Amino acid sequence: MRILVLNAGSSSIKFELFRMPEETVDARGLLQRIGEPLGELACRIGGHERKFERPVKDHAEGLRLILDALTDTAHGGFADLAEITAVGHRVVHGGEAFHEPVLIDDEVERAIEAHVPLAPLHNPPNLLGIREARKALPDVPQVAVFDTAFHQTMPPVAFRYAVPGELYEQAKLRRYGFHGTSHRYVSERAAAILGRKPEAANLVTCHLGNGCSMAAVRGGRSVDTSMGLTPLEGLVMGTRSGDIDPAVAAYLERVRGLTIRQIDALLNKQSGLLGLSGLSNDMRTLLAAEAEGNERAKLAIDVYCYRIRKYVGAYTAVLGQVHALVFTAGVGENSAPIRARVLAGLEPLGYRLDEERNRAAVRREADIATADSPIRILVVPTNEELVIARDTFELALRRPSRFVAG
Ligand code: ADP
Repeated sequence: MRILVLNAGSSSIKFELFRMPEETVDARGLLQRIGEPLGELACRIGGHERKFERPVKDHAEGLRLILDALTDTAHGGFADLAEITAVGHRVVHGGEAFHEPVLIDDEVERAIEAHVPLAPLHNPPNLLGIREARKALPDVPQVAVFDTAFHQTMPPVAFRYAVPGELYEQAKLRRYGFHGTSHRYVSERAAAILGRKPEAANLVTCHLGNGCSMAAVRGGRSVDTSMGLTPLEGLVMGTRSGDIDPAVAAYLERVRGLTIRQIDALLNKQSGLLGLSGLSNDMRTLLAAEAEGNERAKLAIDVYCYRIRKYVGAYTAVLGQVHALVFTAGVGENSAPIRARVLAGLEPLGYRLDEERNRAAVRREADIATADSPIRILVVPTNEELVIARDTFELALRRPSRFVAG
């Protein structure tokens, strides 16, 4: 069975084609610069590397280009679109409406649309991807997997902001959290590595990519996470400030005359590692600059690590007992120096890092704690696409369909 996983952004479509239940990847690729003079599709299909450069007017044309490449038998593709059993879509914001993946119908589409005010940059392109895929593959079950869903188990004490209650009841102003698919995947893997049932594992998970977030996971359920109403809250990220005094907005308006839109852009796009360093949002660049004596790069990395350390302390307190701390995503999977800086000084809390194991753990599952560490410290490469493929496969199987039956 073939499952196509789509992640549609404002000017891009990322895709991965899985064979299930084997969980092997037959094709993957990224289409970028939709709507610009020259679009680019880079993909690997059945072992063939391919690159297309041409104008791609919109998401409809983009998806057609991807489906054409997937069915180009001369270049590793398969013969017939009917061989796609189901399509899984990454959707950023499901609000309080979606606690788990769902089969998409018109009502689900409307509900995703209703959540656009909560995720104005992300839900509209996700929705475009869904609409175009439903048009292109009308008889194929389509599934939405939400970034927010895993965190819907947070209790009110974690998800409510201390603002007038009416704003929650009427305007749904609350903390939602994101990267849920990643936190779910790595917490399931971590429990397996620990030899524990998910229900018996208390975990602190750190997703450190361009966007960064942490979660406290008790017994397989998220009980707190660092991102909030939007992905801006919490850790220092590539270009996002993370936690900040909300009065900063009024201050910037007073002293700089900035509009609320400008402040929103400032905190989301010009802050974080980029803002602090004045150099780059990319951790590799900053580590290299720091090694050459760049003080601003050093400060940016120090603030980034300090913020993570504070959350490790906070989530250790939230959980009471922690079985493992898990690092994932670009920085978490690859950077031993950052992992070491985050955990420096946390030995009294039970986090004892083994320097050698830490150095050796790059982009692979590993336990990097010392043998006598009270808490295990794990590196687990994330795989959000695989989770979406599994969820889609499971829901598509449940649906009586001639494609699934045949
Ligand atoms: P995204 O959130 O866009 O999926 P990734 O999870 O790929 O991002 O993470 C990107 C970040 O990971 C970048 O800041 C990049 O510099 C960082 N990164 C990747 N490899 C390394 C490495 N070896 N050392 C330090 N940082 C790394």
